[in-house]
Amino acid sequence: MSDIHIRVSGKAGHITLNRPDALNALTYDMVHAIDSALRAWAHDPEIALVIIDALGEKAFCAGGDIAQLYETGRAGDFSYGQGFWRDEYRLNARLAGYSKPIVSFLQGFTMGGGVGIGCHASHRIVGESSRIAMPECGIGLVPDVGGSLLLAHAPGRLGEYFGLTTTRMGPGDAILSGFADHFIPQSEWDGLKVALCETGQLASLMSAVKEAPVAEIIEHMAMIETCFCGESLDDICRNLQNDGSDFALKALSAIKRNSPIAMAVAVEMIHRLRSTTDIKRALELEYRFTYRAMEHGDFLEGIRAAIIDKDRTPKWKHTLDKVPAVDVSFMLRPLGKDKLTFEEESTAMKIGFIGLGNMGGPMAANLAAAGHVVTGFDVAGTTADGVQNVSSAVEAANGADVVITMLPNGAILRSVANEVIPAMGKNAVLLDCSTVDVESARAVAEQCAKAGVLSLDAPVSGGIGGASAGTLTFMVGGTDEGYTKALPLFEIMGQKSVHCGASGNGQAAKICNNMILGATMIATCESFALADKLGLDRQKMFDVVSTSSGYSWSMNAYCPAPGVGPESPADNDYKPGFAAELMLKDLRLSQEAAIAVKADTPMGAMAQALYAQFVEDEDGLGKDFSAMLPKFEKSERP
Ligand code: NAD
Repeated sequence: MSDIHIRVSGKAGHITLNRPDALNALTYDMVHAIDSALRAWAHDPEIALVIIDALGEKAFCAGGDIAQLYETGRAGDFSYGQGFWRDEYRLNARLAGYSKPIVSFLQGFTMGGGVGIGCHASHRIVGESSRIAMPECGIGLVPDVGGSLLLAHAPGRLGEYFGLTTTRMGPGDAILSGFADHFIPQSEWDGLKVALCETGQLASLMSAVKEAPVAEIIEHMAMIETCFCGESLDDICRNLQNDGSDFALKALSAIKRNSPIAMAVAVEMIHRLRSTTDIKRALELEYRFTYRAMEHGDFLEGIRAAIIDKDRTPKWKHTLDKVPAVDVSFMLRPLGKDKLTFEEESTAMKIGFIGLGNMGGPMAANLAAAGHVVTGFDVAGTTADGVQNVSSAVEAANGADVVITMLPNGAILRSVANEVIPAMGKNAVLLDCSTVDVESARAVAEQCAKAGVLSLDAPVSGGIGGASAGTLTFMVGGTDEGYTKALPLFEIMGQKSVHCGASGNGQAAKICNNMILGATMIATCESFALADKLGLDRQKMFDVVSTSSGYSWSMNAYCPAPGVGPESPADNDYKPGFAAELMLKDLRLSQEAAIAVKADTPMGAMAQALYAQFVEDEDGLGKDFSAMLPKFEKSERP
């Protein structure tokens, strides 16, 4: 193929991108050609290493060839793009995990798809003209091709900075940020390639390495650290505005040009990927976005404005200050059967799921949709999509790699554990996702340890909506071995898991979190009621508190006042998202634990008493836990 020159030169497999007039943009055919060459060379004893380079001075590779993606997407055919990205990402993973050294020579622009080809090589060479960037947010995509992982592991908050502003990195910046390894003057590259081909050894490369130019970004590191450390895109923009320096305002104006949803998702992805070095996890996460990017994101509009009409005035779907968290979650929802897979991935697990209620049902269905073999049991006879029901907990546990329980309380968990542990094989995992007392969690863990079964307590936050969307957060206690085994399942059922330490620590994290939540919700509700009585408009109250020191999740994300802040159960007549009686259950667990370890928790105790009164003596049963606001509206100080 003329767009790419693939040959064996001496002891090297040599791939040269050959579309200099198109800045070597990567076509689907080129992706396939590189992939087949790498497969063939992996087991060829004559090939010691691989060289990837490109013709032309302007670019190694300025990105993927998006014209075809645009045309098919505009015609309503999203499958072409989905197929392209899938195969491109598989190639990126192959490059990153390749069994032989790969040396890439990155002159001029290396952007987007070019990063995927050039920046996962084992030896990435930059020269004087190198300019590396992840410009995807500018066209409505997230940093992809594994670039999200590189950004996540760049020092400090450089990842957020380069990802959101799409700023180009010079050779020093690229080495600092982990996108390149070595600086070698470009005048030496041809000779070096000849030596690599002749010897098949990296010694000539290492001896050619020179000191890299100083990273230009280094003088701005402290400011980037402060401004880009926010939880969300909104925080970052606010920080930049408040900083007010020329550099901060320039960064902000770069951000203002880009797709808000793409940037908000990019921030979330970078945060999530800090806890992994596995490029396949990054690519799988990226694919969740790109799979949806044409239909639900800004991608087609981004390409229209930048490449087709070239008017540079894209009409993005969101404004910068209004990207609802729910839209970010939607773009990163697991893809079920359409999930990006890699050929060498192991096959499905056998999972026994016990407790198919409001939470367990959709969680089990998501696991089945992702290709696992799930058998389920619930005393109430409930079922879930794709799950094969069996007639007892023991039957569900027999031969299972993982048994998951999602049950009402600790006593029921203990009795189910008594039944199933003897039926489980050695090193199978008992994964309890219910919210139960710490003591029960630790007792079950001890029982498992005696039987050679791995155990995890992994309560969740995110409610019924998160269970069906696959966006739960898991707080996990137990061994590293158990956690690693269950991680692929957390990634299907949720958007985040935190390994909190030894058995019981997951439950400890959950009740501590919910004790804070109970107290802050009450504080938020009583403050609104006080504000009412002082004649302060609720919207004004929200505007002040949500950006002042009184802010909290209860105020900012789940505002209990109807019509104020983002949509919440208050806007739906307090129909539960999270029911008051469930909050009461969690507060009781927190106080039982506090008594057991003699912790002084007066606010938690007060929150428990108020929710008990609300649920048991007033009209709180069956209402959302934020319905404390109408309670305080009605009541008067004695
Ligand atoms: P649920 O009552 O809808 O489901 C529990 C299921 O367990 C029921 O279907 C019940 O029939 C089944 N069950 C009871 N005993 C059983 C046994 N011995 N064997 C098999 N099945 C049995 O409750 P849920 O809302 O799904 O909550 C489950 C757990 O998740 C609870 O611990 C809860 O605190 C926690 N949780 C719930 C939410 C939420 O918003 N609902 C949020 C976070 C955590």
